[in-house]
Amino acid sequence: MRELERNRDAPASTEASSELGRLAVIGNGRVGGSLAHAARAAGLEVRVGGRGQVLEAVRGSDIVLICVPDRAIADVSREIAQAIDVTTYVGHVSGASGLDVLRPAMERGAPTFSLHPLQTIPEPTTTLLGVPAAVAGSTPAATRIATTLAERLGLRPFEVPDDQRAAYHAAAVLASNFLIALEETAADLLTRAGVEDARAVLTPLVLRTAANWSDTGRAALTGPIARGDETTVARHRAALRAMAPEFEPLYDALAERTRALATLNRSQPHVEGGTQVSTPRIVRTREELRAALAPARGEGRTIGLVPTMGFLHEGHLSLIQAARERCDVVVMSLFVNPTQFGPREDLAAYPRDEASDVTLAGEAGADLVYAPDTGHVYPPDFATVVEVGGGLTDVLCGDPARRGSAHFRGVTTVVAKLLNAVGPDVAFFGQKDAQQAIIVRRMARDLEFPVEIVVLPTVREPDGLAMSSRNVYLQPDERVRARGLNRALAAVSDAARSGETSTARALALGEKVLADAGIVPEYLEARDAETLAEVERFDDRRVLVAVAARIGSARLIDNVLIDLSHGEDPA
Ligand code: AMP
Repeated sequence: MRELERNRDAPASTEASSELGRLAVIGNGRVGGSLAHAARAAGLEVRVGGRGQVLEAVRGSDIVLICVPDRAIADVSREIAQAIDVTTYVGHVSGASGLDVLRPAMERGAPTFSLHPLQTIPEPTTTLLGVPAAVAGSTPAATRIATTLAERLGLRPFEVPDDQRAAYHAAAVLASNFLIALEETAADLLTRAGVEDARAVLTPLVLRTAANWSDTGRAALTGPIARGDETTVARHRAALRAMAPEFEPLYDALAERTRALATLNRSQPHVEGGTQVSTPRIVRTREELRAALAPARGEGRTIGLVPTMGFLHEGHLSLIQAARERCDVVVMSLFVNPTQFGPREDLAAYPRDEASDVTLAGEAGADLVYAPDTGHVYPPDFATVVEVGGGLTDVLCGDPARRGSAHFRGVTTVVAKLLNAVGPDVAFFGQKDAQQAIIVRRMARDLEFPVEIVVLPTVREPDGLAMSSRNVYLQPDERVRARGLNRALAAVSDAARSGETSTARALALGEKVLADAGIVPEYLEARDAETLAEVERFDDRRVLVAVAARIGSARLIDNVLIDLSHGEDPA
């Protein structure tokens, strides 16, 4: 062991493993017996110290391995302190205890370690070959000795820092003890349902499931929750409530965890080379939403949010697809926000089709649809608003004669709430609602929301009409006239690109196109694309030309960005 002392700071090597010296195993129960057995088989010199022979076994040993029940470790450590010196390595094999239980040995200057075989050891002769073993040491040399000893005994050592001991042990309890508790619960339920020999009936399923999990991890998840079949889940809960209500909280807790894993599977399917399209999970409350996102957040995955009011079209889907490409997990919110509708606006008539929206969102790549009720978003005592100033919200659509700044107050309030509920890394908005995008970007910057706001181009029908959920309001003749909006914008941008510097003159050309289409606009204006200040000339600045008009019962908006310094951005 002098040899070992000299090598104390050298990495463990085969040579070091042959220099482990004399091993004292204190305790001759199942664990002590099995470890002593393995040590002898490995050719180590082993002395086993049972009750009354502890000091005898320890004297002259180079390594002392305490294999007694957890509550007795500290006592043994105290007892052996007088028989060891600074060259003796003292370890225990408890899963739950840290190195602090070996303090008396440590106070004698002895380096300490722990070595916990992660396996149930039912007999004193259980073979430990290939069993993983958690090791930790009070010094790097002690960790190396623990590692070398474990390897020599045929175990597979892995390091667990001493300050993570409780978490390690909790994981072991989840994996082993709780599995038994779970299987006993399943067997109990089956017995109450009239099935005889429930354990034998369940065993093949349990063994196959464990093997599948070992092969593929969470991809092994199957069943109603993974499929999003909440109807079946509701039937299960009703049956439990009737037959075994004491099991219902357990079922609910595991169902919640299963849903979260299923969400992860959808966002990161374990299908190699395949495109797996699945129905996104719908969550109705911020609590469900947070629980569903917790594992992804914990794993440091990026979360993307696409806020919508539903009745999805290609414009919305382009945002979801972009989010799918950028982010690990994609959340689409589906909420027709009453506070952004004026008293004479179309809140009640706003088109809705949740079932189709969920399918389309899934096809485009959404993992989760957050579709809260109005009462959940705005409880009766809701009393807070988020309002952006700076001349952004009282112009264009925010002009008091039009929708008014209250509209944008509704938008920014709900977007702030959605950003807080989802906590996305990136949120995606459409250039179609250019003013909204500018205002949201300013809000996120001013209030320091830790989110990147991405604005994506307007998706159009083949004839140029910007896609909008409100297009369904258009009668066939109105649908034809509605083309005038995009044509008017094109006339303005064509003029600007052809050298017209006066915005007034270019806008006049656009107004003529609108008039020819029988459209009386609410506005057709040219404004600075960041500040929304009016602009009189097309120059190096990015200019937003925006139009709004009522066509039949639909109020439609559209815009084009004119950037003469970098060419034109087809919004
Ligand atoms: P909405 O459901 O109307 O609130 O729209 C949800 C999001 O989709 C907003 O960020 C819109 O700007 C965006 N969006 C709506 N229509 C289009 C479109 N035609 N092209 C691109 N994005 C759009």
